[in-house]
Amino acid sequence: MASRVLGARVGVLGGGQLGRMLGLAGRSMGLELQFLDPTAGSPAAAVGELVVAGYEDESALERLATSEVVTFEFENVPVSAIKSLEQRCAVFPGSRALEVAQDRLHEKTCFRALGIGTPPFEAVDTWEQLQAALVRVGLPAVLKTRRFGYDGKGQAVLRTEADAKEAFDRLGGSPLILEGFVRFQRELSIIAVRSRSGEVATYPLVQNHHEGGILRKTLAPAPAVSDSLQADARAYVEKVLQHLDYVGVLALELFDCDGRLLANEIAPRVHNTGHFSIEGARTSQFENHLRAILGLPLGSTEIPEPCAMLNLIGRSVDPRAVLEVPDAHLHWYGKEPRPNRKVGHITVRAPDVPTLDERVARLERSIGA
Ligand code: AMP
Repeated sequence: MASRVLGARVGVLGGGQLGRMLGLAGRSMGLELQFLDPTAGSPAAAVGELVVAGYEDESALERLATSEVVTFEFENVPVSAIKSLEQRCAVFPGSRALEVAQDRLHEKTCFRALGIGTPPFEAVDTWEQLQAALVRVGLPAVLKTRRFGYDGKGQAVLRTEADAKEAFDRLGGSPLILEGFVRFQRELSIIAVRSRSGEVATYPLVQNHHEGGILRKTLAPAPAVSDSLQADARAYVEKVLQHLDYVGVLALELFDCDGRLLANEIAPRVHNTGHFSIEGARTSQFENHLRAILGLPLGSTEIPEPCAMLNLIGRSVDPRAVLEVPDAHLHWYGKEPRPNRKVGHITVRAPDVPTLDERVARLERSIGA
C-alpha cells in the first residue's frame, strides 16, 4: 500500500475552495491532485492540475480514471459520471451515497429507515399535494426543492396559506419536499470519517450560526454538549456511514431541540462546518478525507482548545486587522468577492472560552460581520 500512496495521484471532481483545501493537505502528504471542473481558473487550480471540461466529458473522465483514487468535492456532480468512473477505478465516496445526498426526499427517507429523528416531511409534486401535506404537517412549514438547493436557495418558509401559494408558484415545477418548521435551540453538525477498512472517527459536535441560509460562524466544540448528546450524534452518523458503506468525510447537519437531535441533511464531502479543523483539530477534515480514501490510518479528531471559524462572505478583508488577533488564521480562496459568495474564512483559537469570545468579537468587528 505504502508505495502506491506516496506520490499517488488523487482525482477530484470539482475545483472550488474545498478542492483547494484538499489539495493543500494532499501536497504536504506528497500527493498530486488533479481536478475536473467546467470553470477555468477555479480556486483549486493553484494547488494541482485543473482539467477544464464538463463533468460528463468522456476524455476528461478517462484522464481522471488513471488516478489511484477519485473523489468529489461538489455534491451536484452527475451521478452518471461517478458511476462511469466506478467501472474504471476506485471512487470514494461511491455513487450510492451521492444519490441519497442529492435528493432531500431520499435523504430523509433514509434517516427515517435508520431510526434517526427528522422533522415531519412529505413529498410534494402538485398544488393539491401541497395543500394535503399542509393539513398533516401544519404551519409554519418549509417547502424545499428536492434537488440542487444549497445555502438556503430553493426553499421558502411558509407561515400562511398565501406564502404557500407564492412559494409553490416559485418552486413548483421541480419535485418538492414539505418539512415541518423546527423550533430548534441551535444548529449543530458532526463531521465523521470512515476509512476503506471500516475505521470510523468523529469530530466533537460543533455549533453553527446561519444568516439568510448561509453559514456565518462555527464554534468548535459546541458549548454545553452532554456526553449523551455527543453519543446520540455519533450513533446517528455511524448508522449513516455503515448503511451507505461510506468511505471519506461526511457531515451530518442536526437541529438541537432541547437535547433531542433531528437530522436536517448530510453532505457527502468535506464541509464548511469542518473548516475549523485545519488549525483547530489534531488532524484536519481534509487530511482525514485523503487518509480515508487512500486506505491509510485515520488521524486524531481531538480539538485541543476552543476554536471558532468565521466565514468571509461577499467582500474583501484587511489581513492586518485579522492577523493582529492572537492565534487567528486567514484562509483566502482566490475568488472575486460577489454578494453572498464565500471567499475565505478565519479560524481562531484560545486557551479558554471567554478569551475565544473576545477574539471572535474583535474579528467580527474587523470583518464587519
Ligand atoms: P438546508 O439547505 O436544508 O441546510 O437549510 C438551510 C437552513 O434553513 C438551515 O441551516 C436552517 O437554518 C433552516 N432550515 C432548514 N430546514 C428547516 C426546518 N425544517 N425547520 C426550521 N429551519 C430549517
